[in-house]
Parts: sequence; C-alpha cells; structure tokens
Amino acid sequence: MLIDTGQKFLKKLSAEHMWKKSADSRVPLTIGLPRMFFYHIYPDLWETFFSELGIKPIVSGPSTAKTVEKASQISETEHCLPNKLFDAHLAELVGKVDMVFVPRVLSTIKNHLSCPKFGPLPDAARADIARGTEVLSIDIDETVCPLSDSLMLLGKKLNMRRDRTVSAIERAFSAMEAAKKNTARPAGKKGRPHFLLTGHPYTIHDNFIAGPVLNKLASMGADVELISFADNTPSKSYILWSTANAIYHKLNTISADEYDGVIQLTVFNCGCDSMMIETYRQLVREKNIPYMYIMIDEHSAQAGVDTRVEAFIDSLRWRQ
Ligand code: SF4
Repeated sequence: MLIDTGQKFLKKLSAEHMWKKSADSRVPLTIGLPRMFFYHIYPDLWETFFSELGIKPIVSGPSTAKTVEKASQISETEHCLPNKLFDAHLAELVGKVDMVFVPRVLSTIKNHLSCPKFGPLPDAARADIARGTEVLSIDIDETVCPLSDSLMLLGKKLNMRRDRTVSAIERAFSAMEAAKKNTARPAGKKGRPHFLLTGHPYTIHDNFIAGPVLNKLASMGADVELISFADNTPSKSYILWSTANAIYHKLNTISADEYDGVIQLTVFNCGCDSMMIETYRQLVREKNIPYMYIMIDEHSAQAGVDTRVEAFIDSLRWRQ
C-alpha cells in the first residue's frame, strides 16, 4: 500500500517537470538517500531506479565519528545505534536536496518480518528531522505485494510513464543483483585464518560499525567473508525476522572445514540481536567453530575492538 502524503509538491511532479530551471541549463531534481537501513538492504537499487527516472540521487557520506556525534545530538536516546545513525544521515541531506526518500520497509521476504523499528521511519522523518524537506515514501511489504509492484506505485506517484518505470525497475533489479553478489568477500587463502562476519546488512556494511573489526582482521592477515544476503529464499524455521532467518540459515549450513571462526557483529540496543545471539552461539559451538560476538555502541573505538579481535585470534592459536 502506497502512503499518500497528500503533498502538493509531489502532485506537481511529472516526467516533463523533473527539472529545476537554472540560469543557463536545466538541472534535474535531486533525491537524498540516507546511507543506512534500506540503502544497504537493497544495494544499488535506489540510485539506479531514481537515476533511470531522471532524478539525481545524492547519498549521505559513510558513517564516521562525526556522524555518531550528530546522531547523539538529534536522535532518541533509546534507539539502537543504526537507527541513530539513520537520523544523522537523514539530517546530513536535509536542505541539500529537493526531497529525501524514506520507505517504510515492513517485509523484505514474503511471510517474514522486518524489524518494527523500520515502520515509523517516514513518519519520524516528516515529524522531526526532515524539517520541511519533502519526504518521498512507499510501503515495501513483500507479504502483500512484490517489490516490483511497490516500485511501480512509486513511479506512478512520481507521475512517470509506465514504460519508463518498467525499464527503470528492470535496470535497478539487475544492478542490485550484481551488487549483492559482489558484497560477499572472496574465499580465504590457504594458510591464512578465514573468518565469517555476520550481522545485519546495514551493520556489516557500515563504516563506523564494521570498519574497526575489518581493519583489525586485515592488519592481522586474516581473510574475512561477509555474510551474503543474495539468496532471498528463507530457510524453513520458526524465525520470522528476515535478517535473523538468513543468519540462522547460514550458520546452520557452515562447517569447521570452511571457517576458523565466526564473528557476530551486533549493536547496542538491538532487540532482535539480544533475542537471537544465544541461538547463534549454540549453533556455531555445536559445530566446534570458535565464535565471538562484538557489540558496537556510540563509544566504541578502534582500540577496544583491537583488544577483542587480538584475544580471539590468540585463543585460536592455543586451540591448534
Ligand atoms: S534489527 Fe536491531 S539494529 Fe536493526 S533496526 Fe531493529 S533494533 Fe535496530
């Protein structure tokens, strides 16, 4: 179901009016994409889709300590770290673009659920952080209709011709499939420790959250494979959270021959992770694979992560 914002701004848009008048040339409208949540869940999809429709996407920069500082100033203290970072990424775009895009991602896999934190994001953006910048939104609920149908509704909302939207969807899906296949790290080399890093797509691909762990593992000569979300087929399990289902499925299928260890990246105040961590841990330990989880919060620093990773790798040496 498409959210009808009722905003006059969107009613004025049409394929013929997707340009702002400037002194000597026509300038395309711009749309802001916060580099968090749906940006990582659907890699390359949104940039390609909007570009194909003639709207210029502007993505907020990678998360840094400054992003975290901004988040701590403007975001709700009880939010999980990614939600705080999302607010800061959104704030970075406000005032620099003609509109921001904040979909309501309710389900990414049919009959499975996204985190409930995703539900209010467009409303929270309009009520607070967007501060008058137009918020373009759609509902993404694969249990109700496929993503392609939601994108058709988005094209309609932007007054795009049907054939142009269909073409944009095709190209956007191709770009996303290619990006998802590229995001997994290559298999490890012989003689070097090989780890699997698991977590939500927006944590393992976020610079502030995953960066220190990846840096440390690289500096210690370890190969790291990031969990892939390219396969959208859910495992038959009782776990209905889509990301948790994918992590569970992956951990259920790995062996001690493939990995020297599994590192679970989790974030402060994540309700989903707090429910699932023990299940992951047991699953991996039953396979006799060393397991460690690292929780990242606003105050995490490289030094703290270094100590944890070093201790983990040292413990593996004792094991050999
Ligand atoms: S799953 Fe966890 S990290 Fe992700 S939005 Fe929900 S609470 Fe935050």
